[in-house]
Amino acid sequence: MKPRVFSGVQPSGNLHIGNYLGALKNWVRMQHEYDCIYCIVDLHAITVYQDPKELLTKIRDIAALFLAAGIDPKVSNVIVQSAVPAHAELAWMLTCVTPMGWLSRMTQFKAKSEKQETVGDGLFQYPVLMAADILLYQAAAVPVGDDQSQHVELTRDIAQRFNSLYGETFVVPATTLPTIGARVMGLDDPLKKMSKSDPGSGHAIALLDPPAVIRKKFSRATTDSLPAVDFDALGPGVDNLLNIFQAFSDWTGDQMRAHFSGMRYGDLKKQVAEMVISHLEPFQARHRQITAEPGYLDGVLREAAGRAAPIANSTVELVKRRMGLYVTS
Ligand code: ATP
Ligand code: MG
Repeated sequence: MKPRVFSGVQPSGNLHIGNYLGALKNWVRMQHEYDCIYCIVDLHAITVYQDPKELLTKIRDIAALFLAAGIDPKVSNVIVQSAVPAHAELAWMLTCVTPMGWLSRMTQFKAKSEKQETVGDGLFQYPVLMAADILLYQAAAVPVGDDQSQHVELTRDIAQRFNSLYGETFVVPATTLPTIGARVMGLDDPLKKMSKSDPGSGHAIALLDPPAVIRKKFSRATTDSLPAVDFDALGPGVDNLLNIFQAFSDWTGDQMRAHFSGMRYGDLKKQVAEMVISHLEPFQARHRQITAEPGYLDGVLREAAGRAAPIANSTVELVKRRMGLYVTS
């Protein structure tokens, strides 16, 4: 049996190149070596208010984007989190073994709660639900961007605590980060990570942005006061642009230096834009094909949920037995 992989994306906005380079690119690469479950984590998205009609549309949008990025639904399972109720069930059991002190150290909670008028308890519990997502499938590896590594670390702590309290139950998962592109920064502010939920119009390159929009956003990207690329004095904005180019092109560090040293920022921005466009155009064409077939996506999601649910349910049953909860036989 192949080792299992689990990872997810929230349907909280348009997928951007950070999501692609940090997560999806690795997902595609890993799908033949591992038994993969890729999840649209709608229960995570509602930790901040989502318009119900838009949320349902975004769930399907994200599923189509997974497939357009190269996830093969015959090889990998693409599921919607709320279609498998065991996610929420295990989350409760894990909540009961997670000290609040562990959760209050999470940097994402601090950053996201600052932006909310009222902070829902779900935002605080978010990492426990994420631990449930991963542990439910006994995943050995979790391919995510750098911003999620603290949550995977917490998942490991929760798994170990449960195992020591109730006996060996969960596989303790490892984080898989890409070498380049693990943390793509905002084009408008290179000190902030690129995020779906950031409203700034020049902040992120969405995977479905047309070429003209991509060129415009890169041309306005924040750099610094130097005129040209100096690898010994890279400001965060220029460093981010170079990283984006390198992650898409798979060039080596030496190739990058040889090509970009001394290049004026205006030319750098144009070359990064063209590199990104050349990768996103075939992707966007596949996306158009997928969304043109009515019923296809829902069929993919239904079948995958049917395959995932028994795995998830058997873990919940094991956890119930370990904890002494009632199981109907
Ligand atoms: P939100 O603002 O709603 O939290 P997000 O852009 O952070 O959206 P998520 O759905 O939270 O996206 O994360 C999906 C995956 O993309 C995760 O594996 C996460 O680590 C990765 N990811 C998110 N942002 C970046 C980024 N800027 N660079 C690299 N990877 C990223
Ligand atoms: Mg996020």
